[in-house]
Amino acid sequence: MLYIFGTKGKAIKGKIVGDEPCSHCGKTPQVVTPIVKYFHIFWIPVVLYKKMIVLTCPHCKKQSSEKELGPSKVKEFKEVAFNEVSTYQYFTGLAIFIAAAIISSFI
Ligand SMILES: [Zn+2]
Repeated sequence: MLYIFGTKGKAIKGKIVGDEPCSHCGKTPQVVTPIVKYFHIFWIPVVLYKKMIVLTCPHCKKQSSEKELGPSKVKEFKEVAFNEVSTYQYFTGLAIFIAAAIISSFI
């Protein structure tokens, strides 16, 4: 089915974190992958509403969700994962609508 609006999630390139052992096999390093969830209209991202992380072990492929990691680890890994990630593009639609509203007020 064709959706003209809705929500989407996108995984961004992950980063290696060396000091966290895998909860399944105990090996290091692991990869922390930032995930953004956003609302879109006509596939243009309008509002980013959630930033998440998933910790993946490259050895046994175990993925640890935020629930498994706990709030303090999640905060630490989010800072690492989203450190150099720009999330402005997920507000493109909002900027377009604001610009359109401003332009239309002058016409
Ligand atoms: Zn593992």
